[in-house]
Amino acid sequence: MATAEQQQNESVEKNEGQSRHQEVGHKSLLQSDALYQYILETSVYPREPESMKELREITARHPWNIMTTSADGGQFLNLLLKLIGARKTIEIGVFTGYSLLATALALPDDGKILAMDINRENFEIGLPVMEKAGVAHKVDFREGPGLPLLDQLLEDEKNLGSFDFAFVDADKDNYINYHKRLIELVKVGGVIGYDNTLWNGSVVAPPDAPMRKYVRYYRDFVLELNKALAADPRIEICQLPVGDGITLCRRII
Ligand code: SAM
Ligand code: CA
Repeated sequence: MATAEQQQNESVEKNEGQSRHQEVGHKSLLQSDALYQYILETSVYPREPESMKELREITARHPWNIMTTSADGGQFLNLLLKLIGARKTIEIGVFTGYSLLATALALPDDGKILAMDINRENFEIGLPVMEKAGVAHKVDFREGPGLPLLDQLLEDEKNLGSFDFAFVDADKDNYINYHKRLIELVKVGGVIGYDNTLWNGSVVAPPDAPMRKYVRYYRDFVLELNKALAADPRIEICQLPVGDGITLCRRII
C-alpha cells in the first residue's frame, strides 16, 4: 500500500504546471511575500521588544536601511543566544545595531559583546536606544576593520576558545578570512553565524541573470564560502533560510 507521502507525491506529479514550491509539505524557502508577512505579523512583531521596534523604526529612515537585520532575523538571534546560554560574543558588522541589540538583550547582565564596524556614526544612531534599554554596558564597540581587530585578539592566548558565539554580517569578500580567525576564538561547542549566505537568492541564479552590481560582485565569494563551510571538518553546519540565509557553524574540534 502506498504511504501518504507517496500518494501526495503522485497527486502532485499529476498536477501539471504546479511548481515544487506549491507542494503541500515541501520543505523549502517561503512560497510568497504574503507568507513572510504572515510570520512577521503573527509571531515576530507582537513579541518584538519595544527597544527593538524603536531601533527598527529609526533605522527604516536611514538611507542605507536595506543593510539592517530583519525583524525575524533579530528574533532568531535573540532566541538562539538564550538557547546556547551565550555570555561572551563577537559581532562583525554593526550598522545601527539591530542585531547587536537583539544580542545584548539576550545576554545575562554581565555578558559582553565585542562589536566591530568601520563606521562609528551608524552605531551611534542605535546607541541611545541600547542605553535606554539598559544593555549598553554589555557592548564593547571597536571602530575599525574586523580582520586586524581579530588578529589582535588572537595574539592574546587568553582569548583563544573563549567566545560562545560570533555573528558575521560585514564585508562578504572576507567571510573566509573571518572564519579562519573565528574558529580559533570560539570555544569547542560554540557557534559562528554567517549572515546573507543565500545572497538575495543569487546563489542559484544563472550567471547571465540580471543582478544589482553589488549582488553580482559578492556572489562568487558567498558561493565559495558556502562550499568551504560545507567541507570544513572542524564544524557542524546548518544553513537556515531565515532572512537572507544564516549559516550556523558549531565548532566541534
Ligand atoms: N548587523 C547589522 C544590523 O543588524 O543592522 C547590519 C550590518 S551591515 C549589513 C554591514 C556592516 O559592515 C556595515 O555597517 C559596514 O560599515 C560594516 N563593514 C564593512 N566592512 C567592514 C569591515 N571590513 N570590518 C568591519 N565592519 C565592516
Ligand atoms: Ca545581513
